Amino acid sequence: MTQVEPKKLEGLMLGQMMQFPLLISSILDYAEKHYSDTEIISRRTEGDVHRYSYQECAKRSKQLAQSLENLGLKPSSRIGTLAWNGYRHLEIYYGVSGSGMICHTINPRLFADQIVYIINHANDEAIFFDTTFLSLVEGLAPQCPNVKHWICLIDEDQMPVSDKVSLLNYERLIKAESGQYIWPIFDENAASSLCYTSGTTGNPKGALYSHRTTLLHSYASALPNALNLSALDSIMPVVPMFHVNAWGIPYAALIVGARLVFPGAKLDGQSLYELFETEKVTMSAGVPTIWAGLINYVQTNNLKFSTFKSTVIGGSACPPAMMKTLQNMNIEVIHAWGMTEMSPLGTVARLNVKDLSKTKEQQQEVLQKQGRVLFGVDMKIVDSQGNSLPHDGVAFGDLHVKGAWIIDKYFKAEESALIDGWFPTGDVSNIDSEGNMQITDRSKDVIKSGGEWISSIDIENVVAGHPEVGMAACIAAFHPKWDERPLLVIERKPNSQLSQDQLKIDILEFLQGKVSKMWMPDDVVFVDKIPLTATGKMQKLKLRELFKDYKLPTI
Ligand code: ADP
Repeated sequence: MTQVEPKKLEGLMLGQMMQFPLLISSILDYAEKHYSDTEIISRRTEGDVHRYSYQECAKRSKQLAQSLENLGLKPSSRIGTLAWNGYRHLEIYYGVSGSGMICHTINPRLFADQIVYIINHANDEAIFFDTTFLSLVEGLAPQCPNVKHWICLIDEDQMPVSDKVSLLNYERLIKAESGQYIWPIFDENAASSLCYTSGTTGNPKGALYSHRTTLLHSYASALPNALNLSALDSIMPVVPMFHVNAWGIPYAALIVGARLVFPGAKLDGQSLYELFETEKVTMSAGVPTIWAGLINYVQTNNLKFSTFKSTVIGGSACPPAMMKTLQNMNIEVIHAWGMTEMSPLGTVARLNVKDLSKTKEQQQEVLQKQGRVLFGVDMKIVDSQGNSLPHDGVAFGDLHVKGAWIIDKYFKAEESALIDGWFPTGDVSNIDSEGNMQITDRSKDVIKSGGEWISSIDIENVVAGHPEVGMAACIAAFHPKWDERPLLVIERKPNSQLSQDQLKIDILEFLQGKVSKMWMPDDVVFVDKIPLTATGKMQKLKLRELFKDYKLPTI
């Protein structure tokens, strides 16, 4: 397709406004100045709940910046974290990036050899870690010779000893500093933080964000059409700070002066519920698997939320049944889509003026899609030749994006990751005439049956609504005639009553009429647990391996 190049202009007059670089430290400065006594609450690995204010957070972040410099770390040094969501992790976000270093959040749930690869690839010089990860650190240290400092995030009097790694204590380090520190001013395009994709295929790849991209993303994500954050909110990011910067909440919350509640290591239904209630959380964010645990706890114990009013769900498709259940509890579900390479937010499902005259059911359909792009992001769908496809809600193809906070090159890659200036997301989707995007699959999960592409997500979304189904994954199984046919893998709910044979018949009946005949799974199999990735998504690659020799009854 011919692309129209933008016209080049000569002799432009420049504006005469101040140069005010968009730096991460300016967010903390703002919160300190205007929301100084707003609280940050954290469940700690020490076992208690810690509370302090933005003012104290700012002082300790500056003390941290001073200690990093005294440890000999330099601008752009990569500083890793292996940590839960908590106030010290927040101080690291600001202390490291604010002083011109790069905050590299590492997912501790990855395999140890992937973590070793990531630390060495990033060339991390110091790593902050929660005590939960001490034995992991002891295993990593000999394989990560460039890491000069392993710094344990715990009170001094609870500092563990290790005969394998020489450890520093976070509190002791920062206590030695005055906090009299002025954040340096530098180019807003400087790198601020680094996140690796979980690398379900091949080695993980790093997305290196800048101060500018982080600030623009934070502004956009706080807007009413996006996460709708305000100073009246108490936000609990359940999504980990090691998963794409907790979707940007640690920045956006400070921009609006919201109260922050960090859940620490305990992410089970009961622990989360208790924190929601005791800390009067109004807003949260997390992947569907987290909400499944919480909903199960609340329903089994006949409980109610008293302050919780909205949550962002993303990372994988939010099953419609989950959305309904939360809505019935008076919790608004904000379905969002994005990826590590996009900082991560790309689209958010929100009603538009035109939707207001639609029926409740039609509105629900809009809210279940992945949503409309935020200002700052553009998207298109293309066929296998790269031709743009119509936005008619029917045509589907590879989803490409571009925008102000989207990756150009992976960290240390020679070549740009872009195709004609667009980033290929690896997702397959359609876009309707009103701009609502709907993911039908990741390209590697699509089931190609004869000439037809079957959306595994559509089938899973229906099956997840069956009362006895805990989790459902639909994968491609080999078929000699059709190449691939859908195979449904089911993890039952703990209290599921029916026999496997009965449940199989029941699920297939439940699907009848809800998906086309051609899409009906050829078989249903049961597993104790559907394997999850390090970020809590269904690990379909593993399931495909597990069932690679599965003989469908239709063969
Ligand atoms: P990884 O899966 O490697 O950890 P990300 O966390 O960046 O990487 O995941 C990005 C991918 O997650 C997207 O490309 C998409 O496939 C999937 N995803 C994210 N949000 C949604 C959503 N709301 N619905 C469906 N898929 C989603």
